[in-house]
Amino acid sequence: MKTTGAAAAACAIGLIFANAWAEQAPPAFVSKPVEIVQGGIAELEVAGADLAAVEGTFGKEKIPFYRNAQGNFMALLGVDLEAKPGLATLHLKETSRGGVKRESEVPVPIKAKSFPQENFAVAPEFDQLTPEVLERVRKEQQQFARAFSTSVPARLWKRPFIMPVTMDVSSPFGYRRVINGTPRAPHTGVDLKAPMATAVAAANDGQVALIGDFFFSGKSIVLDHGGGLYTVYFHLSEFKIEAGSDVHKGDVIGLSGMTGRVTGPHLHWGARLNGARIDPFELIEKLGGNLDKPVRASAKAD
Ligand SMILES: [Zn+2]
Repeated sequence: MKTTGAAAAACAIGLIFANAWAEQAPPAFVSKPVEIVQGGIAELEVAGADLAAVEGTFGKEKIPFYRNAQGNFMALLGVDLEAKPGLATLHLKETSRGGVKRESEVPVPIKAKSFPQENFAVAPEFDQLTPEVLERVRKEQQQFARAFSTSVPARLWKRPFIMPVTMDVSSPFGYRRVINGTPRAPHTGVDLKAPMATAVAAANDGQVALIGDFFFSGKSIVLDHGGGLYTVYFHLSEFKIEAGSDVHKGDVIGLSGMTGRVTGPHLHWGARLNGARIDPFELIEKLGGNLDKPVRASAKAD
């Protein structure tokens, strides 16, 4: 898909830049049309013989680009599970080797996905929250928000992503939840079957961005994989790493459990990409793993 069309709609100065550059080098191309389902991701490739740098903006989020072995610029784009279906736009700022800047737009159609509904009951203390608990929850949400907005710029992950435990799902991603009869926030991760004290492996290389015991998610770990990509691990019984630790793919970061608001032992596995709550299975499917033959952690708990 050509990305130069937007230049025509830009201001006169932009047009001059675009034309001047067009004489020096062929325009940049995006690898293919980018259609993403709610909660999904897509990998983008921007190629151009004379490209020196590419920056992206999608909604309010900056989208970092990285050079691949072929010298092209790659980025991961994620769409939040509650994003409005329709046409969104990725704004690109490209800089040529000669320092000429150009802006272009990539249309990103967001496709609706139908998420089933599930009903379940939790203990009243997790449903009827006291003012003290509400205050605690509010503070914890701020801690998560801070962790999710301070990703290290470097891309720390390498293909493929691996499953943190086996991939038997007890509650899929995105289900619209009705808890104790009231509609609530959708399920922002995947619940994986994991008997108590199952070894939980890091899905990829990264750093511990947040670790603690939280009201809803219990003992929780947030791993920062760099460039705005995170994976989260909830309801653990035990931690095997510390705040700020560097982790490697497959390292045991904790043991599964049933801390926080749960109906039984399992691992809640979630992912964030530049602010979007995405299906962690997308990382396995799209970034070199294989859902039929998942790459599993060989790590064992000690
Ligand atoms: Zn869950």
